[in-house]
Amino acid sequence: MKILYTTDLHGSEWKYDRFFEVARILHVDVAINGGDMLPKYGGDLFKQDDFIKGFLNKHFSWFNSNDIHYLCCLGNDDLIIFNELFEETCDKYPFIFNLSQRKFDLWGYEFIGFNWVVDTPFRLKDRCRMDTPEYKFQKQLGSALFSTPTGWMGMDGWEKYAHSIKTIEQELSLLVRPNDMSKTIYVIHMPPHKLGLDKCDHGLSVGSKAVYEFLEKNQPLLSLHGHIHESPDVTGIWQAKIGNTICIQPGQPEAFTYVVIDLDNGNIERMSEYL
Ligand SMILES: [Zn+2]
Repeated sequence: MKILYTTDLHGSEWKYDRFFEVARILHVDVAINGGDMLPKYGGDLFKQDDFIKGFLNKHFSWFNSNDIHYLCCLGNDDLIIFNELFEETCDKYPFIFNLSQRKFDLWGYEFIGFNWVVDTPFRLKDRCRMDTPEYKFQKQLGSALFSTPTGWMGMDGWEKYAHSIKTIEQELSLLVRPNDMSKTIYVIHMPPHKLGLDKCDHGLSVGSKAVYEFLEKNQPLLSLHGHIHESPDVTGIWQAKIGNTICIQPGQPEAFTYVVIDLDNGNIERMSEYL
């Protein structure tokens, strides 16, 4: 089975177009898009539904008509109010599957997605959680915001509220279980800590302890991550191991960056191309 993986495209149309071209040229069986799929429109995130209905719908139709399985998740910069529209759009095509907190089975392999993230300094909190009960918050860049169908809902006291909802650790423990971990591929937007897959350009490592411990304990075949676009450029690391599990975080700098994984011969290659 041949897999093409990319992440954090943030609505970049030329990168989406290349993603399809590469999938077609390399005859991949599965294309995986790991989250933060939608454009930010200079901060007007409430327009993200236009992208889903227009560009993304068409993008999905190309994969569908080429019989390429496409597994995807929204990410922390994709408003949660568009979950339903995203789901409906995926559901229009038999080859497109919304992997968020779900399992997809193909030819004996099991793919499981997870798109909650550890809290960030940024104001949008739709998909943010504390990592573990002991989690220490980063300095915040303003008061918390949540998307609602009628606009932003502000919140004072985000840190207190975050203590009352599930942590990443708890969410991971509730995730659907595969039948065979040795043939399971997790797509977890948030990278684990400690491996150099989570370093920001200001030098802070912000990866998840809970994700690391989950992978260490369960030992799946592969885990695919994203979220910190610059990390591979900062550390020089885009893949690492936790026991027998291979963890991959290709990053997403200015160049279109993706990974090709051949499960039959174990080859994993990271590629970058400019517009
Ligand atoms: Zn992200």
